[in-house]
Amino acid sequence: MTTGKINVQTENIFPIIKKFLYSDHEIFLRELVSNAVDATRKLKTLASIGEFKGELGDTRIRISIDKDKKTLTISDRGIGMTKEEVEKYINQVAFSGAKEFVEMYQDKAQGIIGNFGLGFYSSFMVSRQVEIHTRSYKPDTTPVIWQCEGSPDYTLLEGNRTERGTDIILHIAEDSEEFLDEFRIKNILTKYCKFLPVEIAFGKRKEKTTDENGNENEIEVDDVINNPEPAWTKAPASLKEEDYKSFYNELYPFAEEPLFHIHLNVDYPFNLTGILYFPRLKNNIEVQKNKIQLYSNQVFVTDQVEGVVPEFLMLLHGVIDSPDIPLNVSRSYLQSDANVKKISAHITKKVADKLEEMFKKDREDFQKKWDDIQVFIHYGMLTDEKFLERAQKFALLKNTAEKYFTLDEYTEKIKPLQTDKNNRTVYLYASSIDAHHTYIQNAKERGYDVLLLEGPLVSHLITRLEQKLENASFVRVDADTIDKLIQKEDALPSKLNEKEQESIKPVFEDCVDKTKYTVVFESMSEKDVPVMVTQTEFMRRMKEQQAMGGGGGFYGMFPEMYNLVINSNHPLTSKILNETDNDRKKQMGRQVVDLALLQQGLLKGEELSAFLKRSVEMIEKMGDRKSTRL
Ligand code: ADP
Repeated sequence: MTTGKINVQTENIFPIIKKFLYSDHEIFLRELVSNAVDATRKLKTLASIGEFKGELGDTRIRISIDKDKKTLTISDRGIGMTKEEVEKYINQVAFSGAKEFVEMYQDKAQGIIGNFGLGFYSSFMVSRQVEIHTRSYKPDTTPVIWQCEGSPDYTLLEGNRTERGTDIILHIAEDSEEFLDEFRIKNILTKYCKFLPVEIAFGKRKEKTTDENGNENEIEVDDVINNPEPAWTKAPASLKEEDYKSFYNELYPFAEEPLFHIHLNVDYPFNLTGILYFPRLKNNIEVQKNKIQLYSNQVFVTDQVEGVVPEFLMLLHGVIDSPDIPLNVSRSYLQSDANVKKISAHITKKVADKLEEMFKKDREDFQKKWDDIQVFIHYGMLTDEKFLERAQKFALLKNTAEKYFTLDEYTEKIKPLQTDKNNRTVYLYASSIDAHHTYIQNAKERGYDVLLLEGPLVSHLITRLEQKLENASFVRVDADTIDKLIQKEDALPSKLNEKEQESIKPVFEDCVDKTKYTVVFESMSEKDVPVMVTQTEFMRRMKEQQAMGGGGGFYGMFPEMYNLVINSNHPLTSKILNETDNDRKKQMGRQVVDLALLQQGLLKGEELSAFLKRSVEMIEKMGDRKSTRL
C-alpha cells in the first residue's frame, strides 16, 4: 500500500469543487460515464489495430446503486489502468481540468456555466469517498484500488480484481443522497447518456422469451438506457424517411410529426453532424424554442443553443453534434468564439440550400408546406440578412385566391394595374378572407389582386420588404378606401359640397366615440358602400409590431384610432342630408354607421344589441307599411 498527496497546488480545491458546481451536481455522472465510454472505445481501437489480442466480450457499461452501502458504482470493461497509470492520470494529470476551473473561477465567477466539466474529480461533488478498482487490459498487470476522501491525500493498494476494466465506486455524501434514488439516476442517464456510443445498462427489466418447446418464459435482462447508434451518426444515404421519423420520435416522444428534415454532415473546416427537423409551427413562437439538443461526440451538453445557432433556427428541432464547439466555457465566451460563428453561418446556409432545393425540385409540394413553414422563413428573413437574400428565391406570397408566387413573380403580375400615379407599386393584402371580405371585393372589382398575409410576423416583414424593394408599399385593404390606396387619377367630384358635408357631419359623429373615430368625407363611387371604417396602415402596423414585442415604439402605445369614411357620392348620404325629420335623420345615420362597424367587427355589446333591436323594428315598420298599402 502507498499513500501520497495528489499533485495540486490549490489545497482547497475540494471545497471549491463542491461550492461552485452546486447548481449542477448531476453532471458528475455524465463525466464518469463519458470516461467509461472512452476507456471502452480505446480498447476497441486497440483491438482493431491488433494491439489487444484478447476477447472483447461484453463491453456494456453498468451503473448500479447499493442502498445499504450508500454507493453508486459505474463499471466498465474498457482498458483499465495499471498502478503507474492511476498515479499519472488520476493523481497528477486529472487535476488539470480542475486547476483550469479554479483559474477561470478566479476572474470570472459569473461566467461559469452549469455544465462545466471537471472530469473524474467532479465525483467529489456528491461523494464523501471515492474508490477506483481497476485492472489494465495488459497481460500480467496487478489490479489496483485507489481511495480518496475528498482531501489531497489518497491511498493506493493492490486489488484482487480478475477482469479487465474499471469500477468507480462513489460513497455518496449525506447531503447528496438523492443520487441513491433510481428515478433520479435514470433521469440523469436519459438526459446526458441517451446517445452515447457504448451500451449503458441501469437496472434490469423483464423480457418474455419462448423456449424450444414453445413455452413462454420471463427473464431478467439488463435495462439498456441508450441508443449507441443514433440516426445522425449514420450516413444519410443509409437512412430512409421512416428512420428520420422514428428518430424524431425518440427525441420528442409526444410531438407531432415534423414536416421535413436536414441532415448535416460537415467535416471541413470543422466537424459537425446533426439532423434538424422543421416542426409544424404554431403562432406562439416562444414556446417552441430551445428544442435543439447540442451534443459533443454523442454526449449531451445542453438544449440552450442560444449563440450557437442563429436565433431563427432555434425554432427548429433536432440534434447538433460537434466536438469543435468549446463546451466547458461560459456562454458569453461561446457566443464570441470564432468556431461557433462559423458553425452558425454554415447551418444557416445549409437550411437555405435545403429550402431552395425543395422549392426547385417540387414546387407543388413546397407550396403545400408553405403555410406551416412561413413563420419560420419570415423569422429568418427578418433577423438574418444573408438568409433574406437567399429566401427571395423561395419565399412565397399567397393571394386570396390561394395561388402562390415568389416576390418577383408577384411584382411582375401586379405592376401593370397596381402602380399608382406616383409610380409606386401597391401590394394589397388582407389578414383574413372572411374579416375583410367587402374590402377584398372592392379591390377585385377594380381588377386588383389581394394577398393573404397571415402570421405573427407579417407587419414586421412587410416593413422590411418595403425597405428592400424600390417604390413599393404594402397596404391592408381596410387601410383606406380602395381608390385612395391606389391613387390613379384625381378623385371623383363630390356630390356634396363642403357646407353640406359640415351640416351632416354631427349626425355621424354622434354615432361613435369621437376620441376613437374621425369622420371624413370621401367622394367614392356611387356603387361603393355608404359608410366604411378604415384604420391607417401605419397606425395598425405599429400596434401589431408592438403587440409582437418588437418595435412599434411611440406610436405603438397609441390607442386604437379609426376613420369613419362617409361616401359623399352614395345616394343614401344625400338622402340623410335631405331628410327633414330629425329623428329619422339620426336613425338613418346610426344604421349605416353601425353597418360599417359591424363589417369591421367593431360593433359589440350594448351597441350591437341596440342595432339588432332597431333593425327588427325597422323591418316591422316595413311590414306595417305594406299591410296598410294592401
Ligand atoms: P479527462 O477525461 O478529461 O481526461 P478525467 O479527470 O475525467 O479527465 O480523467 C483523467 C484520466 O483518467 C483519463 O484521461 C483516463 O486516462 C483516466 N481514466 C478515468 N476514468 C477511467 C476509466 N473508467 N477507465 C480507464 N481510464 C480512466
